[in-house]
Amino acid sequence: MKTYDWIVVGGGITGAALGYEMAKQGLKVLLLEQHTNLQGASRHSYGGLAYWSGTTPLTRQLAKEGIDRHRNLSAELEADTQLRELTLILTIDPDSDPEAVAQDYQKFAIAPQLLTPEAAHAQEPLINPHAISGALQLPHGHINPLLTTLAYTKAMERLGGTVHYEQVLSLISRRDEHISGVSTAQADYHASGVVVCAGGFSRGLLKAAGFSVPLYFTHAESIEIPPVDFTLQAIVMPANLQRSKMEGFASAKTQDHFWEGEDHELALPIMDVGMIQFQDQSLRLGQISRVLSNPHAAVDPAASEAKMRQQIGEIFPRLADLPGTWNHCLVAFCRDYLPLVGSIPDANGLYIFSGFSNPLVFVPTLAQRFATHLASNSDNSGNDDDIIQQLSPSRFMG
Ligand SMILES: Cc1cc2nc3c(=O)[nH]c(=O)nc-3n(C[C@H](O)[C@H](O)[C@H](O)COP(=O)(O)OP(=O)(O)OC[C@H]3O[C@@H](n4cnc5c(N)ncnc54)[C@H](O)[C@@H]3O)c2cc1C
Repeated sequence: MKTYDWIVVGGGITGAALGYEMAKQGLKVLLLEQHTNLQGASRHSYGGLAYWSGTTPLTRQLAKEGIDRHRNLSAELEADTQLRELTLILTIDPDSDPEAVAQDYQKFAIAPQLLTPEAAHAQEPLINPHAISGALQLPHGHINPLLTTLAYTKAMERLGGTVHYEQVLSLISRRDEHISGVSTAQADYHASGVVVCAGGFSRGLLKAAGFSVPLYFTHAESIEIPPVDFTLQAIVMPANLQRSKMEGFASAKTQDHFWEGEDHELALPIMDVGMIQFQDQSLRLGQISRVLSNPHAAVDPAASEAKMRQQIGEIFPRLADLPGTWNHCLVAFCRDYLPLVGSIPDANGLYIFSGFSNPLVFVPTLAQRFATHLASNSDNSGNDDDIIQQLSPSRFMG
């Protein structure tokens, strides 16, 4: 029987980054991912690094550490993450007062510049100036999230970590109820600790094992357009993100009983019109978000794609009819917009590293901090990380 120090469940960016950081600490790691070709949020993400978006000392520190880390990541992982520094244009809808929206953004670490519709169009000529009342301009980072995830996975393997492409079906607990491994259809695997990094599937996996965590998920839909022969000047998103409001509503304590049900729709679907171009000139357009309690709920691809294209066409007329592929995945989130990082209360040996709804800037630094924290706890050196403690799932207890 093969045993490991740590089993990481889920090979998206959170699991891959954490597996790598654990291997760097000299720990023996097994990463289990169900798909050989990734299909989760890290595959379909825009890849934006919102390093300007810290609003508290904690998130400002993490964003600063995060972007510094990203700037050195390609060299460290020996693979190109395609990091770029780009202009972010946040469009303001015609019914909103641009001055008031700009005022709301003063809470962020970097304050935006307010643009007229014409100035926004000059920055990114694909924007229809008649569909907006103004825009905000910010500096933004961008990576290819799939390449970054694969770079982390390969770097972990180089350090002696193991990857198996198998679906985790259940957790294994010892007689004393310590979680000591996981089962897949192929084998049982044992370790001193198990960390769940399964994104939107984490909640269901833990629930099946009898653990309830305040972790939720949206169903996200986007359209991928193959490489085009023109170049975009900016990443464009809405200033007034509907998804954040939906997440706030859907994760309120009063909604918890709906999440326990098999098939609830907790809110009407929302659409945040955004677009991003990757270095290979392909585009990602989106996005519809839904809160359905069933992670496997079916959505109608044709109707969704038509709705997305109609709304995308209002702001980016040139993009609406470009041929592309509709995609769907789950995105995990938490009630306080911070991730869950740490041991699961009442579950010895079981940990979570998930619940980042807009996490790409934070993941490298948090993975490093969490792996260091776990390694120092296992050798009893007592090097407790204050930031990791603030993100512990126990913050929701009581
Ligand atoms: C359209 C879109 C745009 C986005 N844009 C941004 C952005 O610009 N900036 C930003 O910061 N964030 C963005 N996000 C969010 C961000 O991409 C995700 O939050 C992040 O990628 C989540 O990573 P993850 O590892 O938690 O989840 P995932 O990438 O979903 O990985 C979880 C993995 O776990 C695996 N898994 C699940 N269950 C099991 C099991 N039982 N056994 C084995 N494996 C299992 C899955 O197959 C999956 O690969 C966006 C998301 C979407 C969908």
